[in-house]
Amino acid sequence: MSLLQLPGRIWHTASFAFMRHVMWAIRPPTYIVLLGGPGAGKGTLAAELAPALGLTHLSTGNLFRREIAQGTALGKVIEPIMNAGGLVPDEITLAVMAEELSRKRNWRGAVIDGFPRTDAQARLLDDLLTDWDQRVNFAFFLDGSKEDLEVRLSGRRMCSNRECNRTYHVVFSKPLKDGVCDKCSHPLIQRDDDKPEVVAQRIDKFNATNGPILTHYYRRRCLQRIKTTNKDPKGHVFRAVMEALGAD
Ligand code: AMP
Repeated sequence: MSLLQLPGRIWHTASFAFMRHVMWAIRPPTYIVLLGGPGAGKGTLAAELAPALGLTHLSTGNLFRREIAQGTALGKVIEPIMNAGGLVPDEITLAVMAEELSRKRNWRGAVIDGFPRTDAQARLLDDLLTDWDQRVNFAFFLDGSKEDLEVRLSGRRMCSNRECNRTYHVVFSKPLKDGVCDKCSHPLIQRDDDKPEVVAQRIDKFNATNGPILTHYYRRRCLQRIKTTNKDPKGHVFRAVMEALGAD
């Protein structure tokens, strides 16, 4: 950036900060983090919760899949990592998240699904929100057994339309017509990282990194644990979260 561009940049930053504060004076933002192993139902819950609360749904997994679908340079780097069930390196994830969170649509708050997945990510999210005098208001941990997660992941199907991203399950959440999305009629596919050979590795990785994140939010007094099983009645977790938020 040249010196000539500096006044414009300062004006841009200041006017954005002013707009954010006007918005927050009308309605304070709420940032909700959904934690849980792969297949715990974070994405499904976020897709229900975000519209019910008037917040955006922010999913790092969806952001990454979009990069891959668009064939960007970033997409080419992360595709093999995701397909093998690994975690995208923190420096990439943190940059993507910081950029996304700063977008105007997320100023009212967001339901954040799939982030943080490491202690460093949890700390960065705090730093980003602290810069705005905000914080993570609620962290919900969807706590399910490894066996249940394996069943959910291996039966999960996803709409192949990247703009839709709706998820189904071959037993628990069937589409009206086999193999076809109810919402946009595109074919359903199985994600490469939901294939049996990758599933166990993803769950183990989650178990290895989850402890410090739970401690992080426990210390900040915003952690709530919600026990889930595959036998829960439909809408059980959604209702439990709405009740905890006082929004039921
Ligand atoms: P998800 O859709 O949340 O299950 O994420 C799918 C995949 O995207 C994960 O298995 C990781 O490879 C990658 N990913 C998503 N979120 C993160 C994150 N916060 N940190 C690192 N990798 C991530």
